[in-house]
Amino acid sequence: MLSIKLPQLFSIHQVPKVFREDGIISGYRHPRSSALDCVLSSFQMTNETVNIWTHFLPTWYFLWRFSVLSSSLDFLSESYTWPLLVYMVLICLYPFTSSCAHTFSTMSPEAYHICYFFDYGALSLYSLGCAITYASYVMPDCWVNSWLHRHFVPIAAGNTLICTGLSCYSRFLELEFPRRSKMLRTAAFVYPFLFDNIPLFYRLLLCCGGTCSHSEALSSHCYHLIFAFLTGFLFASHLPECLAPGRFDYIGHSHQLFHICAVVGTHFQMEAVLTDMTVRKSWLVAHAEVPSFMGTVGTLSLGFVLNLAIISLFSGVLLWAPHLIGPSQGASLQSSNNKEH
Ligand SMILES: [Zn+2]
Repeated sequence: MLSIKLPQLFSIHQVPKVFREDGIISGYRHPRSSALDCVLSSFQMTNETVNIWTHFLPTWYFLWRFSVLSSSLDFLSESYTWPLLVYMVLICLYPFTSSCAHTFSTMSPEAYHICYFFDYGALSLYSLGCAITYASYVMPDCWVNSWLHRHFVPIAAGNTLICTGLSCYSRFLELEFPRRSKMLRTAAFVYPFLFDNIPLFYRLLLCCGGTCSHSEALSSHCYHLIFAFLTGFLFASHLPECLAPGRFDYIGHSHQLFHICAVVGTHFQMEAVLTDMTVRKSWLVAHAEVPSFMGTVGTLSLGFVLNLAIISLFSGVLLWAPHLIGPSQGASLQSSNNKEH
């Protein structure tokens, strides 16, 4: 009879320290899985399976939205649509990179860190994409052509380098200073988020003061902010698994909820951006500068190359001096292998 033998799963004490997650007790994959085992594990119930699918399926949703928009908008020659083009590419890229990182992270301790370097790089580029679209479609009327408006994208491009650099560096602190590492990584993503949303916060403030214009998109913007707040809260709090370790190993732990809130938030953000882009088009075309190739696709390309350079730098340091990332992981991997195989 044909039978498929699923790879063995491990408990927290059987895997090296580097792979351990707070409050997750079981369902760990082998810390030296092959690439094929990693792909097959996405069809087996492990503590990463839902993490993989909660970003893989949304990738296809955003690709579908992108292809529908491509058939109705002229992304090639209408420069007004270029900020949206950059944004759509990035909201497809970040969940895809994340699902790949969760799939292949158990190939080795080094692969684990490098996978998440790419995950952070894609998230950081997504924040640049947000800044590019917000500068073009979301900026309040009274700020258009101001100093902040003219420098918004260059500052965001600088932020993306700080964000990727800090978040990758935080992995080097993880084993010895876990709290400091978590705080650094949280700050690395909260800072560009707050910067990107300054124009939106101001528009919401104006609305509270009763001087709203083009308010059609504001409800979707608010839903996005609510889900973004929830995303950050889940990332930082490790709820619910920290209250009942072992209960949410496979379904319902904070990282899965974090993924779901992130994509739902992105969905609302995309709707808000599309509404602002459509409703404000005639006003923006008349009063603001037309988005340039360099300010949109050019900035994204430059951000992409510089982020890759930062990731390569950290990956190089990790591969040439693995002791920098944690002195004990080699030994504990050894003992895990001896115990189980
Ligand atoms: Zn993730």
